[in-house]
Amino acid sequence: MTSGFQYALFFDFHTSGRIEGVGKDFHSDEFTDQVADCGVDFITSHARCNQGYAYYDTRIGIRHPGLSFDLFGELAGACRKKGIRLAAYFNGTLSDAEARLHRDWNVISPEGRVYPEQNRITPYCRKLCMNSPWREHLASMMEEVLEKYAVTGFFIDCVHPQKCICPFCVEKMRARGLDVSRAEDVERFSADSAEEFCVFLSERVRKRKPGATICFNGGLEEPLRDSVSHLECECLPTAGWGYSFLPVASHYFRNAAPGKSVLNMTGRFLDWGDFGGLRSRASLEFDMFYGAANGMRPDIGTHLPPSGQWETPVFELVREVYREMQKYDRWTLGAENCAEIAVVSTREPSGIVCNTSVRGAAQMLSELKYCFEIFSGNGSWEKYPLVVFPDTMRFSVETAERVRRYVADGGRVISSGSSSMAWEKDVFMLPDVWGAEAEPGGLPFTPAYFTADRNFSAGLPDMPLAVYADGTKILPSKESEVTAWFVRPLVSRAWDGICAEYYTPPGAKTEFPFLLFRGRVAVFAPELFFGYANSGALPLRTIFANALKRLLPSPLVKVEGLPSHARVFVQKKERFVLVHILSYLPEKRVNAFVVEDRLPIPPCRISLRRDGRTFRKVVLCPDGHERAFEQDGEYCVVDLPSGEGYALAVFEFA
Ligand SMILES: [Zn+2]
Repeated sequence: MTSGFQYALFFDFHTSGRIEGVGKDFHSDEFTDQVADCGVDFITSHARCNQGYAYYDTRIGIRHPGLSFDLFGELAGACRKKGIRLAAYFNGTLSDAEARLHRDWNVISPEGRVYPEQNRITPYCRKLCMNSPWREHLASMMEEVLEKYAVTGFFIDCVHPQKCICPFCVEKMRARGLDVSRAEDVERFSADSAEEFCVFLSERVRKRKPGATICFNGGLEEPLRDSVSHLECECLPTAGWGYSFLPVASHYFRNAAPGKSVLNMTGRFLDWGDFGGLRSRASLEFDMFYGAANGMRPDIGTHLPPSGQWETPVFELVREVYREMQKYDRWTLGAENCAEIAVVSTREPSGIVCNTSVRGAAQMLSELKYCFEIFSGNGSWEKYPLVVFPDTMRFSVETAERVRRYVADGGRVISSGSSSMAWEKDVFMLPDVWGAEAEPGGLPFTPAYFTADRNFSAGLPDMPLAVYADGTKILPSKESEVTAWFVRPLVSRAWDGICAEYYTPPGAKTEFPFLLFRGRVAVFAPELFFGYANSGALPLRTIFANALKRLLPSPLVKVEGLPSHARVFVQKKERFVLVHILSYLPEKRVNAFVVEDRLPIPPCRISLRRDGRTFRKVVLCPDGHERAFEQDGEYCVVDLPSGEGYALAVFEFA
């Protein structure tokens, strides 16, 4: 079911054809000794790079002109000897040298360009079309590698859908009745082509070696779930991904392909192509512990320099981080996450990790220390006691029926913004369940403010509060209970032809609900999560927390004494319940985000819901110091001492 990798390394080796002496200082035995000394059991290394050069003796591709021996072959032999599994890297759409040789394989963008990007100093300067003979060429090279070397499998990079109107694509589109002049047809065809390309490669590999691992990098985790052996979640938080990517991906990837293991891939550098970058130990630890606490195994990316002489400080850093993590293997390897909230969003799975509202929901739930999962609308979210539909989750007829059954069976829901509206029309699909109708057209003013009723205002300042987002105008039914209301501004923010109405103080409370409850369903009219993602306004989190407390009065874990930036994750394994605490914080330093230090974990109190279990012991790992605890009522309660960066408390039950 899973690839079972424990500790991985990913070696980039994109090498210009102008560089000579490639691999001249490479000693496969010494190199793999370094790898093994880090406790690494799986590496990915280049069979062919994005520049288009192969690093093995190939009859099909182009060997690097500066390489005089079979570098990949030597590496494969040494890995085999030491029990290190090796995946061969191929790029699925980039191969500059081959793109120059076979001009008819190049992508032609819908605008008619063979250089699809304006900026040409990028690996994406030329792209190869997945419907051209490139497809067969790539498959043949992969088969060649399988034939010659004892590889575990393949990592195929950059297989994102790409819009192409080359003759191969146009012919295929015509045969399918698609119109190349229609943008939506080209887009649909590009998504289908990427999926078909990956399925084709996966089948070719499995035919030759049924047990081979294969992983495609390109945002197609859900559609390709049956064609991969495992997933690799690429995230360099210091580059374009940012620090909001992993908190969503770590809760989503495990549900995108249930039962398949997930590697948490980052880099020792700030971005790909950054040869002189070395992140701090705390920065790498933060990412890697975050992943491990969410069932993802660590995978640090680095470069092998062209000469093949590895950089000692890189291995030292990896070794330090992995040795720290290995102290916890007894508990964390194979542990599964516990959750009680499902965040469900979007019909298109590829849009989930970049959806601002999903990121806002994940951010709030993380700060509030709730245990949650993230699903696309296709996922199996019904087993969780509470579902959040953040801001933009439109319903199909089928989804609406699933939600109706879920609520009838006792499920609890928090919905916001246009969630639950039909795809075609701005009306709620389940007005009876939601206790409200949506009035098309939205709120008749901007910006919106809100005020909560006295019995629902715990923690909120007693003044009209900014929403920082648009909202839906909803009309409550008689059965619903409105607990917060929109407040209109004295003047709407607008240009009226004479005046710029920029100063828009709050005016009267309106009759439009901001939040209402209909039984176990809470309906926020504003785009609450979008507002929080863009403003960080704490009152938005407070009123969300108040709704959560009402719907989930006894959460799985309760925490006292930890700051908002600390993260708490709960896992289970055998007779253990694991409570992970992380205390790291990316700091904005002018234009960059930096994690330099482990931050203090103050003394705190953890209350873990017993769910009928009798706990025998609570220990602080890895040292195994026992902690005094109480478990008279619904919870097992333990006080933990101060710490730094990362802590793991293990609750053992009888
Ligand atoms: Zn094409």
